[in-house]
Amino acid sequence: MDSRAIEEIVAEVLNKMGGNSRSLAGSSKPATPTPAIKKATAGNRKGVFPDADSAVEAARGGYESLRKKGFAARAKVIEIVKAMCSAKAEEWGKIELEETGIGRLDHKIEKLQILSKVPGVEWLKPYGMSGDMGISMEENAPFGVIATITPVTHSIPTLSGNIVNMVAAGNAMVINAHPGGAKCAAMAVDAFNREIEREVGIENLVTIIEEPSLESFNALCASSGIDLICVTGGPGVVAAAMKSGKRAICAGPGNPPVVVDVSADLDKAATDIITGGAYDNNLLCIGEKQVFILEPVFDDFVAAFKRAGGHQLNAKQLETLTNEAFTNSKDAGGCSHPVLNRKLVGASPEMLASHCGARVAAGTPMLFAETDAAHLFVQKEQMMPMIPLVRVRDMDQAIKLSVQSEHGYHHSAMIHTSHVGHMTRMGQAMNSSIFVKNGPCTAGLGLGGEGYLSYSIATTTGEGITTPQTFTRRRRCVLVDALNVVG
Ligand code: NAD
Repeated sequence: MDSRAIEEIVAEVLNKMGGNSRSLAGSSKPATPTPAIKKATAGNRKGVFPDADSAVEAARGGYESLRKKGFAARAKVIEIVKAMCSAKAEEWGKIELEETGIGRLDHKIEKLQILSKVPGVEWLKPYGMSGDMGISMEENAPFGVIATITPVTHSIPTLSGNIVNMVAAGNAMVINAHPGGAKCAAMAVDAFNREIEREVGIENLVTIIEEPSLESFNALCASSGIDLICVTGGPGVVAAAMKSGKRAICAGPGNPPVVVDVSADLDKAATDIITGGAYDNNLLCIGEKQVFILEPVFDDFVAAFKRAGGHQLNAKQLETLTNEAFTNSKDAGGCSHPVLNRKLVGASPEMLASHCGARVAAGTPMLFAETDAAHLFVQKEQMMPMIPLVRVRDMDQAIKLSVQSEHGYHHSAMIHTSHVGHMTRMGQAMNSSIFVKNGPCTAGLGLGGEGYLSYSIATTTGEGITTPQTFTRRRRCVLVDALNVVG
């Protein structure tokens, strides 16, 4: 058997195990485009442009066409995007995993299948007022063309969900994807545009920059053809967008804490934390990242976490993995501080275990270890399936450490308790965009809890889980003295 055949078998096995095909050294990108990516990115692609200026100009044309065609066209576009995500979930999930090398195939597929849960035109309700002086109507008008920045953690799902919300509101878009997921993003944009052009007769409603960079991001921010910026990503891009001088809706980073109270159902809490925290190898921004457990139930909770499938690391293994997962970087002032090693982001539990000498059973969803509250796995948004468990003496300490470790992102938090007063106290203290009681984080996005889905949760700027309404301007239209049929 030649070495290429062996590599292919290893990749296939790792994929089946829910891992990915990168080497143990952990490179997050394939050295050369695979045949699937080459096929997906070849030819004359619709909506794919070499630079910001041409992408903006084309999207302005798309916006004008949508304006002329009205609400029926918006609804049809949304129908197309949702149907394509459902039909192509498997194919596109594989392509995204191949390109990014992070996360799990089953969850990449599911994230596209659930796009039907993102709200569309039905969400836009005008507000009417009628009285002695006539009638007024407040309507939701589009902004125009939105510069849309997407993360590597969910490249196609984020851009697809953003299309549903933004086009429902009457906007066109220019996408600056994360370079690590830009090829699959361009492939999806091309496919969407072909179908939209064929079914609705609109070209370039969604455009994308072929090779996105910080320069193309800056060019979009400076462009007079961009009316609004929507960022989904980490602290760097959020800060850059907010300094741009344009209105920015920012779905920023998180580091969601979980509290397990003495009155919790421990087996359910453990299962829920693994369901949310292990999802796509802990790539979700809402995903459980650190757990504070009240001392009297700590040991019982550890036993429950093992029953739920978690694999405990010992102190030596934790130390080794911590040294691999965080590296030191010097800032502009020459001070050294720990930063996340991107090569382990979204790696499988098997891969993490191989970095610290642990042996885990195939299919283990998550690693865990006992740490103190100052540990890097508590303080940093690790985005990998190793979750720290911290003992706390009482609810006051649990809430205090939850607030501290969330760093004021106002993103997501979870509690497992039967005590309503404890739920209320934590909810008020966290002031987070999503707060889930007795469920996995995913319940906060309508997956096992009431509500709707979005892949952009505007935490930094406070709009919360984005909807079509988020991407509208509110306009009041007033008719004085006439048409009030009541009096
Ligand atoms: P990232 O910040 O590395 O990249 C996000 C996007 O910003 C990419 O398109 C990237 O190219 C661009 N970018 C990065 N730094 C930039 C800068 N200084 N100037 C201009 N553009 C820049 O994030 P990621 O690794 O792709 O995604 C993970 C992060 O995104 C996590 O922090 C996660 O919590 C967050 N996230 C938030 C949400 C949400 O809804 N709030 C959703 C998904 C991901």
